[in-house]
Amino acid sequence: MKKIVIVGGGTAGWMSALIMAREWSRQGVSICLVESPEVGIIGVGEGSTPALKLFFDRLNIAEQEWMPACNATYKCGIRFDGWSTHAGFESYFHPFSAALDRQTLPMFMHNAQARLRGANVYAQPDRFFIASRLAQQCLAPVAPEHFPFDVHYGYHFDSTLLGQFLRKKALALGVVHELGHVVAVKQHEHGDIASVQLAGDKHIAADFFVDCTGFSSLLLQKTLAVPFISYANNLLNDAAVALPSAIDEKIPSQTLATAMSCGWAWKIPLTNRYGNGYVYSSAFCSADQAEYELRAHLGLLDADVPVRHLRMKIGRVEQHLAGNCLAVGLSQGFIEPLEATALFLVQQTVAVFAEYFTRGEFTHRLRDEFNQRINNHFDGVRDYIVTHYKTSSRRDTEYWRANTANQQDVSPVMLALYRSWFEGKDLAAEINRLQIGSYYPAPSWYSIFTGMGIVPKGEQLRTATAEEACIDINAVDEFLRRCALNFSDHRAQLARWQSSE
Ligand SMILES: Cc1cc2nc3c(=O)[nH]c(=O)nc-3n(C[C@H](O)[C@H](O)[C@H](O)COP(=O)(O)OP(=O)(O)OC[C@H]3O[C@@H](n4cnc5c(N)ncnc54)[C@H](O)[C@@H]3O)c2cc1C
Repeated sequence: MKKIVIVGGGTAGWMSALIMAREWSRQGVSICLVESPEVGIIGVGEGSTPALKLFFDRLNIAEQEWMPACNATYKCGIRFDGWSTHAGFESYFHPFSAALDRQTLPMFMHNAQARLRGANVYAQPDRFFIASRLAQQCLAPVAPEHFPFDVHYGYHFDSTLLGQFLRKKALALGVVHELGHVVAVKQHEHGDIASVQLAGDKHIAADFFVDCTGFSSLLLQKTLAVPFISYANNLLNDAAVALPSAIDEKIPSQTLATAMSCGWAWKIPLTNRYGNGYVYSSAFCSADQAEYELRAHLGLLDADVPVRHLRMKIGRVEQHLAGNCLAVGLSQGFIEPLEATALFLVQQTVAVFAEYFTRGEFTHRLRDEFNQRINNHFDGVRDYIVTHYKTSSRRDTEYWRANTANQQDVSPVMLALYRSWFEGKDLAAEINRLQIGSYYPAPSWYSIFTGMGIVPKGEQLRTATAEEACIDINAVDEFLRRCALNFSDHRAQLARWQSSE
């Protein structure tokens, strides 16, 4: 392979360019990224998983450099408000993991399993994880050197600034940037892509093409006609409205996901503003209604703020690699942004592609194996997202009734997992058996089931036996309180990066 052309200059395009340049530019592979001056980037997507840290670490890009440039903040996890109506379960925290969890996770799982058997013990994630404690206190999850346990964390960032930052880095690694709108795609007789034609009649040929054209999926879906598999039958949200609001004095180190009448609202803290959005189903709510509800929720009914309305296509392609074309980003699929997994899937796709590519030319078997692996990732993430809706006890609107009533098309893997939970079996063992721990690990599954209140409650509870009641939750509180003393205030930590710019 001598030349790669990436079409699309959104986050997916520039991330792909950087990973590919790091892998192959020293071997003489030239990389060109073509970006349309007419079609903008999607410009939303402000939250990440801990995988983004790995991306920057591998490129040797320090937080001090990229975070201030992108108005970025730290993210310990996600707080879910209003998803459950069960008394005492109205809010829960889904934490990112930490080395310290080795101390507290077994206690959480012990209590969760005991609660499943009807024992009256505390079993929500909130009081068992350092990430949750740090988020509660608006602390930065960066462990100081004298604290010997790392905390894994994600980030919040301005997606437009992140794109610009990645572009600068990619150009420094020798990626060529071409501004031009692709008007036609030329194929060889055997079907592979030969070149893209830009407005003004310039043609760019290459051995390999990366489709990062967003939802339009110009190369993979439109040219190579790879089918799209919709997830719409069990993920109903297909639209979003986004607007900013003023940031608070204390900067939270968590994303807030609040259930709304026809979807949910995100609140993402950046250093200079909150990014807010309402992800909803257009079958149940008009764009105007959604904007009104979001504004009312934020206390911004009459505020003069820039508002963006977006549509989303939820699902994935059947094959991410077809012929000499790899689709990355929205062009390969999108699962609604509830757990902010899109950039993780971008990284995963390009990293796994690089791994396969270095094993030699793609045979049919390797190609199928690659596509299956990426499909499994998409479906694995989808199943976790779907579980938020299946476990919600909200029934107050048509939207929630439709969401929770629809038990069709829940994957066999999910059915097995739900059955295991309801039968009070060892869920961690079932996750291992189903081989789904690499998409979402056991603590995430325990967190969602217990957090949503899918456990015995009220009169279903009995007094715990001595063995079941062996965890002293006040001692866990005290342990985490003392651990948290080692961490800095979030705003102060971010200011430190800004002053070292
Ligand atoms: C409401 C919403 C919330 C989201 N929240 C998150 C989140 O919290 N976390 C997360 O990880 N992700 C999130 N995402 C997803 C995230 O925004 C995207 O995955 C990410 O921005 C990558 O987009 P992209 O680069 O694939 O596409 P885009 O940003 O749409 O870029 C497409 C590129 O293709 C180019 N292009 C298109 N047509 C042509 C053509 N004919 N010729 C040349 N160039 C062309 C455009 O110029 C543009 O540069 C969210 C998405 C939505 C809709």
